Amino acid sequence: MQTLRNLIGGRWEDSTGEDVLTVVNPATEEAFARFGAGSADDVDRAVAAAVTAQPRWAGLTVTERVERLHTWADTVLAHATELAELECREMGKPIGIGRSFVEGGVAALKAAAAQALTYPFTETVTGPGGDRTDIVRHPLGATAVITPWNFPVTMVLGALGPLLAAGNTVVVKPSERSPVSTVRLFELAELAGMPAGVLNLVLGDGRTGAALTEHEDVRLVHFTGSVAVGRQVGAATGRRLRRCVLELGGKDPVVVDAGVDPVATARAVAFGAFVNTGQICTSMERIYVHEQIAEEFVKALVAAAQTFTIGDGMEPGTVLGPLVDERQRDTVRRHVEDAVHKGATVRTGGVVPRRPGYFYPATVLTEVDDTMLVMTEETFGPLAPVVVVPTFEEGMARAAVSRFGLAATVYTDDPEHIVAAARLPAGVVWVNQWQGGGPERLYEPARDSGMGATGARASYDAATRPAAVHVSATPASAGR
Ligand code: NAD
Repeated sequence: MQTLRNLIGGRWEDSTGEDVLTVVNPATEEAFARFGAGSADDVDRAVAAAVTAQPRWAGLTVTERVERLHTWADTVLAHATELAELECREMGKPIGIGRSFVEGGVAALKAAAAQALTYPFTETVTGPGGDRTDIVRHPLGATAVITPWNFPVTMVLGALGPLLAAGNTVVVKPSERSPVSTVRLFELAELAGMPAGVLNLVLGDGRTGAALTEHEDVRLVHFTGSVAVGRQVGAATGRRLRRCVLELGGKDPVVVDAGVDPVATARAVAFGAFVNTGQICTSMERIYVHEQIAEEFVKALVAAAQTFTIGDGMEPGTVLGPLVDERQRDTVRRHVEDAVHKGATVRTGGVVPRRPGYFYPATVLTEVDDTMLVMTEETFGPLAPVVVVPTFEEGMARAAVSRFGLAATVYTDDPEHIVAAARLPAGVVWVNQWQGGGPERLYEPARDSGMGATGARASYDAATRPAAVHVSATPASAGR
């Protein structure tokens, strides 16, 4: 059994907390790693290490910081397969998919860090009479990043680029369900020569996360996770008058218009609903399809679902890994049972396979209505609930009814409907594609899905504190 440790100020240390947590392979149900849950004392020392290291890190030039981050990113890329294997063991993701997301995370880290080279850390404005105002954007200091289990490596890399390139130091607390790949990520940071104390790691569960969000010296908390915990993080940072960026859950709709290719679109929707076993914050979780193509679309969606072969993600040919744990599978089962009880039809899937591991098949539901849990609560599992609508407008109207507002997707060839897509209340709207967008992407989750704009310049605005310095054009000696 592997033992995991915290990284505090450049030293790997056992947690001083008494509780020991284990990491279980969801494909086999076997525990393979253990660690002590980080105590408030561990958090305190990690934050102190970040505070101590910060002035020196901020004292490097932007170019030097970006170079360090790029070296780390290259080291991570060289170990992408190993990291994908670790993610597979700790949370079930098939290694092919895992590797592509690790590569995506590396690209995001590099692109975000490179944006520091053009970000205006100092801007000068000259006013009437020649007075000058310098807007100086200072790093915040020690910051915290708290991540969920569904993309352990990508989530850490995605959050860190702007925070570190702007001159902040960080304490990371990964999910207790998938900390193994994050530990390796930090070993690789050491290997790449990241200075001690710039990146600190404290392992643990919600109690450790709460100690971090409550810490007086943490200037910003970048939190990715559920709405329920996001509210607690927002409340804790609000009490301390500190910043937070909250990237939370979703219940993303898809509107499929008449006139699109029903088979190709169904395949795209199957991918959006089932990849990573539906455990993506922007998974397609509500599908509204125009009645003109509904029959062909559902037939193709069922056929596509049946190609998502269940298995251990380490085995070649596995498309659908297990859910992360029994609790997550219970949520999926409960949502399907609720839908069936209220009149939905299971068109494929819906039965837990008899084998070890937290598996659940790719499942298509029809005769679904908007009162069912599959349409109101985040499922985070391989479900595709389909509602047939008589018009595109009705699909759009029903897609807009949700307490979530993370992302939305529209498939249409109608130019007016493409324009209408932008009106969906979501941070990201994809049209005839899913998951697209480069480093210039700028968005803020709508409704309960979070707060704080990220991407492009906004991530640097969040990672820095602007201060105005007004310099008079009149010399101080002028009045003598
Ligand atoms: P979670 O909210 O249960 O946990 C997320 C992290 O918060 C974990 O590290 C956990 O230990 C920690 N935590 C728990 N209680 C805490 C507290 N009181 N204070 C501080 N930290 C605490 O979420 P999860 O189950 O790990 O992840 C799944 C959720 O994450 C889903 O809702 C999913 O949609 C969301 N998610 C969102 C995005 C996004 O970008 N919007 C991306 C990935 C996942």
